Amino acid sequence: MEFLRPGGWAEALELRAAHPGAHPIQGGTDVMVELNFDKGRPAALLDLNPCRELQRVERIDGKLRVGAGVPYVKVIRELGLELPGLAQAARTVGSPQIRNRGSVGGNLGAASPAGDSHPALLAAYAEIEVESAARGSRIIPIDDFYVWVKKNALEADELIRAIWLEPATGPQYFSKVGTRNAMVIAVCAFAVALHPHTRTAGTGIGSSGPTPLRARPAEEFLAHVLPWDDPAPLSDEILREFGALVAASAKPIDDVRGTADYRRHALSVMARRTLTWAWNDLAAVNGRAA
Ligand SMILES: Cc1cc2nc3c(=O)[nH]c(=O)nc-3n(C[C@H](O)[C@H](O)[C@H](O)COP(=O)(O)OP(=O)(O)OC[C@H]3O[C@@H](n4cnc5c(N)ncnc54)[C@H](O)[C@@H]3O)c2cc1C
Repeated sequence: MEFLRPGGWAEALELRAAHPGAHPIQGGTDVMVELNFDKGRPAALLDLNPCRELQRVERIDGKLRVGAGVPYVKVIRELGLELPGLAQAARTVGSPQIRNRGSVGGNLGAASPAGDSHPALLAAYAEIEVESAARGSRIIPIDDFYVWVKKNALEADELIRAIWLEPATGPQYFSKVGTRNAMVIAVCAFAVALHPHTRTAGTGIGSSGPTPLRARPAEEFLAHVLPWDDPAPLSDEILREFGALVAASAKPIDDVRGTADYRRHALSVMARRTLTWAWNDLAAVNGRAA
């Protein structure tokens, strides 16, 4: 197998175009598992580690540009305040070794419905910057990025350059159900992000459909009923309806990790819990009793 090692990003894009059969590799925590289990043998690996710009976090016009190669450990250590939902999701990924090597860009490249960063990225309205040598860069809204099971919207000659996110203006939470507390693939996962500046709430569902999903009817419901100016504790009625709308937006299947019914139930519970935590945090920040 050929191993392509570019000198930098521009050369990586040229190699990507010239070697359509080459498989990009960043942390290798998905790619190497596939190789070890002999699930296909790419003609070549395209090593993105020499592209130092992929490891950078930049702040541009009030937004964060998180390089595709930024590992989870950096998200946890450096971005917990600005991207609390993504940092929480990152804390649940694998083990310390996996969090040192694995990257958010790699999670997007793999596009597994069970990837933990996806619900948080959906809830935070992320945008994905991709680039090719021939056409330059373009931005894909996160809702359009996930196409099908393990399929994303990248063209054959494109690479993921960065993830663009607004620093949080309100509380964000991520929750995951698994068979144990660590080193576990999600049975299902959920993220919520409150955006008080636009009076909207974002959601993300993981491991309960062919792709990560947003619960749009649940978001629309919250946009109408959340009492932004007076964040007293939310009523049971609001929480129950939100949970029900999230569960109804999922498209789960029965598989070895859980049944569709269990996933829907767990999602409704996680939705109620995470919204309660987020709303109470907002109330605390606003100086009102939760
Ligand atoms: C023991 C173990 C535990 C794990 N636990 C979890 C977990 O709890 N939660 C979770 O979500 N995942 C988990 N994973 C999966 C994996 O760690 C994550 O998906 C991680 O985010 C992959 O990042 P990476 O940098 O290692 O990607 P790589 O393995 O290098 O690449 C993954 C995919 O993305 C593509 N890719 C990488 N970078 C780019 C780019 N810039 N442009 C285009 N394509 C690109 C690759 O070609 C490949 O298809 C686990 C893996 C292992 C081995």
